[in-house]
Amino acid sequence: ALTAGIVGLPNVGKSTLFNAITQAGAESANYPFCTIDPNVGIVEVPDYRLNKLTELVQPKKTVPTAFEFTDIAGIVKGASKGEGLGNKFLANIRQVDAICQVVRCFEDENITHVSGKVNPIDDIEVINLELILADMESVEKRIGRVEKLARQKDKDAVVEIEVLNLLREAFEAEKPARSVEFTDEQLKIAKGLHLLTIKPVLYVANVSEEDIANPSDNEYVQKVRDFAAKENAEVIVICAKIEEEIAELEGEEKTMFLQELGIEESGLDQLIRAAYHLLGLATYFTAGVQEVRAWTFRKGMKAPQCAGVIHSDFERGFIRAETVAYDDLLANGSMTAAKEAGKVRLEGKEYEVKDGDIIHFRFNV
Ligand code: GDP
Repeated sequence: ALTAGIVGLPNVGKSTLFNAITQAGAESANYPFCTIDPNVGIVEVPDYRLNKLTELVQPKKTVPTAFEFTDIAGIVKGASKGEGLGNKFLANIRQVDAICQVVRCFEDENITHVSGKVNPIDDIEVINLELILADMESVEKRIGRVEKLARQKDKDAVVEIEVLNLLREAFEAEKPARSVEFTDEQLKIAKGLHLLTIKPVLYVANVSEEDIANPSDNEYVQKVRDFAAKENAEVIVICAKIEEEIAELEGEEKTMFLQELGIEESGLDQLIRAAYHLLGLATYFTAGVQEVRAWTFRKGMKAPQCAGVIHSDFERGFIRAETVAYDDLLANGSMTAAKEAGKVRLEGKEYEVKDGDIIHFRFNV
C-alpha cells in the first residue's frame, strides 16, 4: 500500500499531529491490508460522495476507504552525513511514496526552536538540503558507474548520463529532483534511481490556536505559501494541538466544535485528502443494499486491476464493469433511473477507471 511520510524538524508539532492521526484512526478490522506498526497511522478518507450514496441507497453498512501515514522521526541538520538518526531517517523516507513536511508557524517561547527562532523557510530549506545532499551522493555514485559505458557510446548509458547530469546541475543549485523538467523517457530513468527529492511534497503549516480561523493573517503561513507556489506544491494549514482535540470527536459534536473554531473542515481532513491525491490515488465506489463502500485505486488503473482491489478472484475472472459516473447517478436519483437514461455503461478490460465511478463488477468464478 502507498504511504505518505510525515517529516519535519524537532519541535514543529509532528508528534502532536501524528497523535491526532492515530486518534482519529480507522478501525483496522475494516482494513486488513494495513500495516500494524506504531509508526503507521491508518486514516479514513473523508468523502462527501460516500455520504450522498449512503442516503441514496440506504445500505446496511457504509465503509470509507483508508490509507496510511508513516511517522518519520529524526531529521536534524547534517542528517545526510549521518548526524543524529540521519541514516535511519533517510532509509525511512526512501520507503514512503510522498512527503508531508510539517513546518512550524506558531510562536511559543516555552518551546525551543532548533535554530533559535521561528523561520519556516529556513526550516524547509534545512530539510530539503539534507535530502538533496543524500541524492547528490547517489547520483555521483551512479555517474561513476555509467560514465565509462557512456563514453563507449553504449546507448542506454548515454541517455542515463544525460539524466544524471541534469540532476547534478539541479542539486548543485540546491534544487530538488522533482523540479527538473524531464522528457517522458528521462523521467522513467530518473524514477528508477529511487531519489528522495523526486517524491511529491506538501507542506503542513502548523499554526497557533489563535491563528487557525484566519491563517492568512499569519506572516509565516504566507511565506510558506509563496515558497510552495514556486514548487507547485500544496500547503495545508493546521493547528496540531486543536487537531488532537478534534480527533476525539465525531459527528454532530465535531461539526459544532469546528463551527466554534470558525472552520469548515478540520485541518486533518484536508491533509488526508491532499495526501491521498499527492500519492496519485483516487476512489471508486461499490453500492449495494448490503454495503456502500469506497475503494482506492491508483490513477490510470484499468477496470480488471480495480476489481482486483476488492479481491484477486474479481480480477482473474473479470468480464465487465457496469459503470456509472457519480454525477450521473446523483442527477438521476437511482440506479434504475440512471440505466433508463442510458448513463450506465458496460465497460471492458481496457477501461481506465475514473475517480467517482460507481461500479458493479461482473466476473466468472
Ligand atoms: P515534534 O518534535 O515535531 O514531534 O513536536 P511535538 O509534536 O512534540 O511538539 C513540540 C511542542 O510544541 C509540544 O510541546 C507541543 O505541545 C507544542 N505544539 C505542537 N503543535 C502546537 C500548536 O499547534 N500550537 C502550540 N501552541 N503548540 C504546539
